[in-house]
Amino acid sequence: MTCYDCVLEDRTGTPAIGVCARCGLAACQNHARVLTSLISQVNGMGLSTGPVPARRFVCTACHTAETAY
Ligand SMILES: [Zn+2]
Ligand SMILES: [Zn+2]
Repeated sequence: MTCYDCVLEDRTGTPAIGVCARCGLAACQNHARVLTSLISQVNGMGLSTGPVPARRFVCTACHTAETAY
């Protein structure tokens, strides 16, 4: 797969390292952010958060949109 943002910028076929968790487009290392997020689930009376953070891969466009507000 080819990075979508690289295709838009200079039309070169940079190989993508992953697929954005939000928009589903492929992105390379320069056009993506790997975030960590805690997994929480309803547990009895409330919400419990797991001890191990999960990994989340998002492209820069979605990362900017998520942190813009
Ligand atoms: Zn790229
Ligand atoms: Zn995205």
